[in-house]
Amino acid sequence: MRFAPSPTGTLHVGGARTALFNWLVARNTGGDFVLRLEDTDRERSTPESEAEILRALSWLGLDWDEGPVRQSERGDVHRQAIERLREAGAIYPAWESEEELETQRAAARESKQAPVVRGRRDWSDEDLARFEAEGRQPVWRFAVDPAGETVIDDYVRGEVTFDHGSIEDFVVARSDGTATYNLAAAVDDLDMRISHVIRGEDHISNTPKQMMVIRALGETPPEYAHIPLILGPDKKRLSKRHGADSVEDLEETGYVRSAVINALALLGWSFDDKTTVFTIDELVEKFTMARVSKSPAVFDVAKLDKLNGRHMRLMSDEEFLETLLGYLERRGRLAEYGEGAEAVIRESVPAVKRKLSRLAEYDDLAGWLFRPLVVADEAWEVVSKDLKHSIQVIGGGLGRLEELDEFTTESVKDALQDQLHIMGEAARDFLEPQRIAITGQLISIGIYESLVLLGREEAIRRYREMLGRLAELWTAA
Ligand code: GLU
Repeated sequence: MRFAPSPTGTLHVGGARTALFNWLVARNTGGDFVLRLEDTDRERSTPESEAEILRALSWLGLDWDEGPVRQSERGDVHRQAIERLREAGAIYPAWESEEELETQRAAARESKQAPVVRGRRDWSDEDLARFEAEGRQPVWRFAVDPAGETVIDDYVRGEVTFDHGSIEDFVVARSDGTATYNLAAAVDDLDMRISHVIRGEDHISNTPKQMMVIRALGETPPEYAHIPLILGPDKKRLSKRHGADSVEDLEETGYVRSAVINALALLGWSFDDKTTVFTIDELVEKFTMARVSKSPAVFDVAKLDKLNGRHMRLMSDEEFLETLLGYLERRGRLAEYGEGAEAVIRESVPAVKRKLSRLAEYDDLAGWLFRPLVVADEAWEVVSKDLKHSIQVIGGGLGRLEELDEFTTESVKDALQDQLHIMGEAARDFLEPQRIAITGQLISIGIYESLVLLGREEAIRRYREMLGRLAELWTAA
């Protein structure tokens, strides 16, 4: 099994899914998982992209047994294969210029034939001498037999037959002697003894070409499995428009690794009709290519949100804390929250774990704990709408909190519940101003937990601050 990304960008959801399927098969059959960087396109491949792909794979936990092997460093192996193909008469030098090829294609279209390129092989000695004088270098094309066919016995799609009449004499070596993608991929799969090539369906038209190369070298092609396309919920091909489309985006949004793996596994694979939550170990045990469907898969961020919540709740508090701290640290939040934040974050775990669907929401729910009181406009609007009422209920809450010696979730809850009954208030009308008084927000972790995490002293200070602001407005009015 291998994953063979081209380092020309970030690791996208589709690539990550391909990597995962290969990794799962390797882990569950005891095979090796090889990482091969297909970096022969020197212009588009970058070291930054390479580093990002490796980083994203590591974050996902998709560890490789061999590699990373850089295709660009295997020029000798490719050249030897080209030489063998030349000796076998499977390839020929093609001298046509780009304009000549275009004329050929246009003529084919005119006579309603597929614009399939075949190079001329009957150049005269004078032509050849002229090319040489012009300094023209040939490319090398594979001599496809137009009468033949290639049948892929695909794990997912069943038998797929390609009629060679519609396959052009594809280029295997560029004029500078370097190998093209189809040559390099075929030769490397062979040379690295890849037993199964699992890749996206968008590659299926390359497969007959790669099989032809391998057969011309006198060898047997690997098994192939082409896994379905990935669409967005609108049934259009997945792209940035659908929200996060790279592993890096998913990680930054605060999805945890096990949920991302779970969601990726469900892109084309299912265990049965009902189970949706799988741990990584369960996937390693249960995943089989036999249950990969050929219909397109839909990647839906809303489903990932749900899975993420489930996976976070499956974690022990300790594991969740570690994941959360790692996340906040990477995003620079830990430094921003300041000294002593770690202890408060640790204490906040039970309260946030219940409420979060993405780690990024931590800051919305609990970030206020680490900042001075900033009242959001929409929160101020709520408390300033009925000033008298706000002052009464916040004052009532403050009175009770001041009386408490012991400041625990239970004692705080009992006191505030008792007060709201005494005042004959509806829960929401009473509790929302309390929340605003200490958080400055309409949304946060639970009010009782919020009070305890903030601590008695600071909570009382904030109550007084809020009452002061409201009283100022009251007297001004
Ligand atoms: N390098 C190709 C890509 O990034 C993958 C080729 C393959 O899996 O055979 O799309």
